[in-house]
Amino acid sequence: MEPMCPVCHVAVRPADFFCYNCGKNLHEKPLVTTKFTEYLYYAGSFLLPPLGLWWGFRYLKQADARSRMIGWICVILTIVSSVVVTVWSVHLFQGITAQVNEQLQGVGGAGGF
Ligand SMILES: [Zn+2]
Repeated sequence: MEPMCPVCHVAVRPADFFCYNCGKNLHEKPLVTTKFTEYLYYAGSFLLPPLGLWWGFRYLKQADARSRMIGWICVILTIVSSVVVTVWSVHLFQGITAQVNEQLQGVGGAGGF
């Protein structure tokens, strides 16, 4: 199926950014994808999990393969980060619970109730 201008319905090429007939912006402007912003997004996705999903989906909406790849990496990093944080929190919580239990048992034993 040929892509079509949403305003005047003439056939346009998939690569066109503007409709040649009415001038409608057919794609959002491509997001900046320098190496620096790319790594910034990766770091952000990993360190600030909910934001990574937002960035990721914004890139996934882009037409070019490179942006979509960045989008996927952001989403994957976000998921990996969430899993790591969840596992780590559960581990930490279990550690604290075990310590508290040990101390309570210690106090109970020493008190000799
Ligand atoms: Zn048009």
